[in-house]
Amino acid sequence: MSVEPDDAALRRSAPAIVAYDVDQLPAVDLDAYARIRSHAVHASTTVAPPRDAATAEVPAGSFFRITSVDGPQVGDLNLWNLHNLNERFFSGKTRQLHATHVGIGDRLWSNLPHLRPMATITADTLDWYGWDEDGGGIHDVIGTRCDPYTNQVLRGTEYHRCCHSNLTRALAAHTGRPMAEIEMHVHDVMNVFMCTGFTRDTHQYFMKASPVRPGDHIEFFAEIDLLVGLSACPGGDCGSTHSDDETPCYPLQIDVFTAPAHALDQWTPAPINSYDRTHGA
Ligand SMILES: [Zn+2]
Repeated sequence: MSVEPDDAALRRSAPAIVAYDVDQLPAVDLDAYARIRSHAVHASTTVAPPRDAATAEVPAGSFFRITSVDGPQVGDLNLWNLHNLNERFFSGKTRQLHATHVGIGDRLWSNLPHLRPMATITADTLDWYGWDEDGGGIHDVIGTRCDPYTNQVLRGTEYHRCCHSNLTRALAAHTGRPMAEIEMHVHDVMNVFMCTGFTRDTHQYFMKASPVRPGDHIEFFAEIDLLVGLSACPGGDCGSTHSDDETPCYPLQIDVFTAPAHALDQWTPAPINSYDRTHGA
């Protein structure tokens, strides 16, 4: 280990500064979303079977709800622009703009060079959980998704029901495009209902059994036309293991609610980021 300098305590005492001026983010008017929601009607139901994924198209101005059914289950969520798969959810920037775990009033942002809100979280029956004694919280944007490549490195075995593979199969089926091509569009997720954090001593990523129970749900407002991909993780409630067929695993349901045009009078879809993309050249 390196030698600690004499002024180590002084250097460590520098104040922690929140890195982004998040008060300057566009305001989220939850009352306005609630008014739109009061006019919305149920349009469709899609189920992601256990250890598998499903896709759903969600028009801009609609809501989609993810519900736990049958048993405690974690979901790995991907979002794409329905008309351009290259615009997709950007978990890293969402984490920097909001927090390691997201909740009501937070937004899911898209990747560069688009960087705009794709969806806004408008309801969450697990928002009572807060932060537990281990520092754990719900709905993280820090984990990536379980995948067969990491499983191969750690265990030397082939497992085909990881969230990465589930999302790849579902997106290939939705688009009718080859798996090898479509796999590149699967991206880091929002871990819906998952309880995670970092250990206090070694700062390692941990998971613990999700507090989600059947009937719990989280709801989003679509700020642009979306293609939603959701995998019911093979880890089930992620209380023990993942990337295997041992853990009890349950379906997740996606319901879409559409609002009539008159309810959307005061709302406009999020525009593409206005940076001119000249990068100083
Ligand atoms: Zn998973």
